[in-house]
Amino acid sequence: MIRMESVTKRYPDGTVAVDRLTLEIPDRAITVLVGPSGCGKTTILRMINRMVEPSEGTILLDGEDIQRQPVTRLRRSMGYVIQNAGLFPHRTIVDNIATVPRMLGWGRHKARARARELMERVGLDAALAERYPYQLSGGQQQRVGVARALAADPPVLLMDEPFSAVDPVVRKGLQDELLRLQAELGKTIVFVTHDIDEAVKLGTKVAVLRTGGTLAQFAPPAELLSDPADAFVEDFLGADRGIRRLSFFPSGRLELTTEPVVRVDATAERIPDARPLLVTDADGRPLGWAEPRDLTAGDIRPERLLPYGRPFVPGTDSLRVALDCAVLSPTGWAVAVDAEGRVTGVVSQQTIGEAIRDAHRADAEVAG
Ligand code: ADP
Repeated sequence: MIRMESVTKRYPDGTVAVDRLTLEIPDRAITVLVGPSGCGKTTILRMINRMVEPSEGTILLDGEDIQRQPVTRLRRSMGYVIQNAGLFPHRTIVDNIATVPRMLGWGRHKARARARELMERVGLDAALAERYPYQLSGGQQQRVGVARALAADPPVLLMDEPFSAVDPVVRKGLQDELLRLQAELGKTIVFVTHDIDEAVKLGTKVAVLRTGGTLAQFAPPAELLSDPADAFVEDFLGADRGIRRLSFFPSGRLELTTEPVVRVDATAERIPDARPLLVTDADGRPLGWAEPRDLTAGDIRPERLLPYGRPFVPGTDSLRVALDCAVLSPTGWAVAVDAEGRVTGVVSQQTIGEAIRDAHRADAEVAG
């Protein structure tokens, strides 16, 4: 565990970047430092690997003061990933990743084999191994940065805005990849971002900092969204805090109904009376919502169906996704499917609304 005890950083020009910060960073979890630009996030991260020395206070790694450790040993136990990856431009991808193992004295063959294994781990095509960084996209370079940080298998990973310079779609991919990787590797990750959505998505725990380097709140994301400590945190979380909080509520208990679901080849007399009516193909996959006029005629024509939007998977998706499906649906009903994409039922906005109220109530009771 990394523990910061009343740590202050005053730069030579008098700027107090971090002010008496006490923080316990749990093992094998992702701790996110988030806050407005200039609130001291990078300074905190760099104090952990001693690229910046604190003016006051102590940082402990597994109970040992990091000041008392040789800096080289400390840094070997900590991978470091930065924005724009910071790759060596004149080294190939495989040699970039093999840098630290080579520094540690591994043979060239073994280091390169390790690098190739890591490329696969982080989702990079082996064909890229002999290319140079400029021949890769921003997202691919960022993956190389992560692979390089992981090369010597350090227990700690420090990540400073690693995904900030890539476009939103690539960024989402990198975030998902990091979560997948973390589920496999279980590193102690300290992740800096100024993006609250990224913080909420990635963090096991999130530290919200305010300008001047003081801690506003340190909590799991769901708690941050439900109980912001003060107006600053609430403001930082943004206007749609309530909607975002729904990401933490499961959709598995939503009551579905199959009454309005009908197969496209159903005979006229078997078409249910329900409105609206969801039409599936013979395999049970959704085709669309039927227009009332077609139903009256007992005549379902696939080409006239209304789009069903995006279905959700109960149990896998959150209440937020279910609500989004209902909001996007032309009928106001969300379509539930199983993992194979077959319809398991439909649910109205109203029912989802009731489930949200129930979830809030249950949550408030647990909170006491
Ligand atoms: P963040 O990562 O949250 O943007 P930083 O840790 O980079 O914040 O900076 C915190 C504060 O310390 C800012 O006011 C910044 O200008 C100042 N600062 C950072 N590095 C130095 C430095 N080397 N000398 C003087 N001031 C610095």
